[in-house]
Parts: sequence; C-alpha cells; structure tokens
Amino acid sequence: MRFGKLLPFLLLLLLIPFSCACAAVGVQLTPEECAVSYSVDLPDQDFLLLSYTAPKENGKMVIYAPDGHFEGSIPLRYSQAGGTVKITINSFDGKRTLASGSVALPAANGYQAPSGKASGKVTGLRLEETVSGVRYSFSCPGSDYLLLKAHSKEQEMEFPVYPQEDGLYAGEIEMPLTYARALITVKVLSGKGSALAQAEARKAYEAPAPVEQQEGRLSGVIVCIDPGHQENGHPVKEPIGPGLSGSTTGSSGMAQGALTLRKESIVVLEIGMMLRDELLRQGATVVMTRESQDVFHSNQERCQIAADAGAHIMLRLHADLRANKNKLGFSVYAPLHSDYAKAVADPATYRAMGELMINAMKTRVGLPLEERYGLVILSDQFVGNNWAKMTCFLIEMGMMSTPREDYLLSYPVYQQWLAEGMAQGVYDIAVYRGWVTE
Ligand SMILES: [Zn+2]
Repeated sequence: MRFGKLLPFLLLLLLIPFSCACAAVGVQLTPEECAVSYSVDLPDQDFLLLSYTAPKENGKMVIYAPDGHFEGSIPLRYSQAGGTVKITINSFDGKRTLASGSVALPAANGYQAPSGKASGKVTGLRLEETVSGVRYSFSCPGSDYLLLKAHSKEQEMEFPVYPQEDGLYAGEIEMPLTYARALITVKVLSGKGSALAQAEARKAYEAPAPVEQQEGRLSGVIVCIDPGHQENGHPVKEPIGPGLSGSTTGSSGMAQGALTLRKESIVVLEIGMMLRDELLRQGATVVMTRESQDVFHSNQERCQIAADAGAHIMLRLHADLRANKNKLGFSVYAPLHSDYAKAVADPATYRAMGELMINAMKTRVGLPLEERYGLVILSDQFVGNNWAKMTCFLIEMGMMSTPREDYLLSYPVYQQWLAEGMAQGVYDIAVYRGWVTE
C-alpha cells in the first residue's frame, strides 16, 4: 500500500532529470528593422526546422549549419506595430524542440495604425501567380483601407492595404518562404476581420536559364535528364516494353510531401535543373525531357527524346513514398528483360553501373546521423526504362513520405548535393563504359 502511494512520486522524481535534460536551449534573438536575427549552437545537428510567430505573421523554414552553429535573419515585414516574436527550432517531425526564445520587437519608426472605413462590397478579386508569390486586384468602392490575409503551408501574414484610386486595390504579395507551385490563399477582410472575398493561386515556377557548357571531364558525353511526371498527368496505356508482353497504364499517381504537401513533379524538376547545370559545368551535353510543370509526355515519348538526342545515358528522376514514415534514402532501378535493355548491357553490368550511381549519391549526400539505405533493383516494371535504347536508370532520390526527407528534397543545399552525387555517378559510369577516359 505504502509503496503504491509512493509510486507516483518516485515516477515523478525519475522524470524530473529527464525533462531538464531535454529542455530546449535558448536562442539569442536580436530585433532589427523589419527582422529578427537569431543565433544558437546545437552541436551534432545540421538540418533543422525553424518556426516563428509574430502578432501578424508566422512561418517556418529549413535551416542548415554544417558545424551546428545556426544563425540568420527572419524577415518580419508585417510587424510594424511591434509585438512579441517567438521562435522555436525543432526536429523535422516537430516532435522535439531543440531551442526556443522570444523577443519584443518595437513598433517601426513612424508607425501609424490604419484608420477610416474598412468595409464594403468586394468585387472582382483576381490573383495572378508570380515567381515571388501572387499579384492581387479587386475593387471595394468607398473603403479607406482593408486587410489582406495570405497563407500557404509555410507562412501566413495579415496586413492593411489601401486603394490606389476610387476603391481599386492592386499589389503584390511576396511569400519568400513559400515553395514554387505551392497553393496560396488570399482573403480580403474588413477592418474588424470579417471575410469579404477569397481566392487561391499557386506560386509560379520559372526554370532557371542553363549555365554555359564548359570543357570538362564529361565532354563528349550526352545525358538525357527526365524529371518524372508533370503537374497534371493523365494515364496513357503503353506497351510494357520491346520483347515484353502486355501493356499498362502504369501508376499515374505520384508521391507527395508528408509535410510540405509538394508534388513529386516539381521537386524532381527543381533537382533536374541543378543536375543539368552540374553536368554542363563538367562538359556534358544535356537534353531535358521537360523544363516546366505544364507539359505531358508519355514514357515512350520521353525515351524517344533521349534517343533523338543520341544520349549515352538517361536519368529518370523520381521521389518515393512508403507507409513507414522513418524510411530514408535512395533506390536505383534498371531495366532487365526488354530487348533494348539486353542490347545495352547484361544484368551484371547493369547492376554494376547502378551500384556506381548509388555509391556516388551516398558518398555525396551521406548524412552522419542516419543510416541511409541504397538499393539497386533490376526489373521490368517501368515502361520508361524498358523503352530506353541507352543506359537508363530510374532514380528514386528520397522518401517524400518521411518528414525529414520531404523537407530536405525541397531544400536547395540538399538538392545540390543530390545533383552533384548523380553527376559523379554519371562520370563513374562513363569511365566504366569507356565513354571517357579517366
Ligand atoms: Zn515518380
């Protein structure tokens, strides 16, 4: 009995040291004009997620520090009235808070709260996508100002807007933390906060111009990069492959980020562009099967683009998903029994090339804290591999279903690592096959 009564206290005593050990460290925060700078040391951490809240805006972003010293600045454009800014630095799954802090941001110099009539009938709300966010326009005759509230998965802000003339409102909303092709919702609110109109648009994606092709170790090698899928696909029935029986519509679905909600098609396109530039810098000639989200090519058409370009190698870029939300890492799929695959290489050679690719990726990307698996799989399951007349791999670059990898696959530093790893893989395969000499 006595022990039974004591037990809860004993358990509590056990918990106290643990909760202390797990307590988040303090982030050093310094208010600046329209921003707060942060600085914190978190040894053994590299990529983390920073979230901030201020009275009229909040957001989250991936932060990276190779040496565990995290510092940077959070833009606070909509906090002119001042207020408390809170910051937490979390693991990617949001389950562990590693650091936190708060600071008072003073009101901006000369700040004046909006005043006048802030209501009326809103008509013609239109949003146009831009590369930095959205452009809005609407009309609300007789109003002196209104409030706009914009939000995406990554950030949210509310701010007053003023008519240019005669109740006509127009302007741009910049959403730097919002991913390309992410959905942005804009609400027009009265001064008291009631919704008057609402519209949605996606942030635009604009493919970067290619870097200049250099003379380099891959000069003479032609690479076809095939970023998988497109924004809106439709299933097409295709024969499985030359020398194989049957046809398939394949799986028309694609992976989606567990937390970013991004479509696989935009993630692989962004990485594809980085791979293009990396290969161009090393001397390769590069052909892309697509450079925008708004296209449609069947698998066979993609293989034809590679064949028409006389490509030595075709890399089909994809990202994966699993029911297990802890899975990390790559897979490389090569074709096996199609007539075209057999003409390219025997299975042992294909496997050896796949190993070269996956090892190059693991070496470049290898993060110290996780065991990243890497598989080479030879199979007939991918139509787009079976119809390739040249060396061809479908590369699953990571798991969008795993929170950490979902964020990393959209983070430019990590995307560049993947691109460099695959470019190294192309070089290693080119040497192995004798397309270039070492
Ligand atoms: Zn895919």
